[in-house]
Amino acid sequence: MPELPEVETVRKGLAKQLLGGAIENIDLRREGLRFPFPQELKERLEGSVIVSIDRRAKYLLIRMDSGFVWLVHLGMTGKFTLYHPNEKPSEFAKHDHVIVSMKDGTVATYNDPRRFGYMDLIKPDEEWTNRHLARLGCEPLSDDFDTANLCDKLKGKKNPIKIALLDQRIVAGLGNIYVCEILHRAGVSPRRLSSSIAGKNGKSTKMAKKIVDETKQVLREAIEAGGSTISDFATVDGDLGYFSHSFTVYGRDGEDCSKTNCVGIVSKIVQGGRSTFFCSKCQR
Ligand SMILES: [Zn+2]
Repeated sequence: MPELPEVETVRKGLAKQLLGGAIENIDLRREGLRFPFPQELKERLEGSVIVSIDRRAKYLLIRMDSGFVWLVHLGMTGKFTLYHPNEKPSEFAKHDHVIVSMKDGTVATYNDPRRFGYMDLIKPDEEWTNRHLARLGCEPLSDDFDTANLCDKLKGKKNPIKIALLDQRIVAGLGNIYVCEILHRAGVSPRRLSSSIAGKNGKSTKMAKKIVDETKQVLREAIEAGGSTISDFATVDGDLGYFSHSFTVYGRDGEDCSKTNCVGIVSKIVQGGRSTFFCSKCQR
């Protein structure tokens, strides 16, 4: 499943090819994905010029010169493929649900076998009230995400830190794999109560600082590596990323802990319906 670094990789790839280009045609080959396509999606986007492609959490925000914003979430298996003007395929694949043809002949296809992805059309100036974006916490790589901010969000919370970090209102865009990696690197148990990390009265703690620092570090490394590929996720250029080799704890239950000086074994538990991988020796 694409996580924040993968979405960032897709964003960069799309921006490289599509920025400044005009959309000639959008072919919606079904009624919708996880949700129905917005009614005006096609007519509002056709003829518009793409002025920027941004990312908020795991959402792609494709901004038009008209002020409309095309929001795309890749779900579990969503993937863009780009075809240069002279490479346009004669027929499209089974799960190519949306075909975007640019005026210059470039074609972008959105393929999504499991159809957990979704798209929305945001009217000019309505981004901050959009149902997908309005309640998101701060971006983990922004300066807003710091120890004070995290502790403020965690204070008094009686859920495990693993669950709290997956809560998009606390910090936006972290998924299961990276939260496991972050907590392992930070040496914090996924079962630890969130409130204990915030300290008394929401005061900053060393553990909170470690979590914040490792969050930024892990995401930066992953973005640098071009995103990971757990299943069949490919970047827009069709190249597979390679960060998955570097997961130190995710998917490694039964293996020795990778930390030097730790003799622990990675275990797997289920929290909130999701698998958590951690080392009970060095994560406290
Ligand atoms: Zn360990």
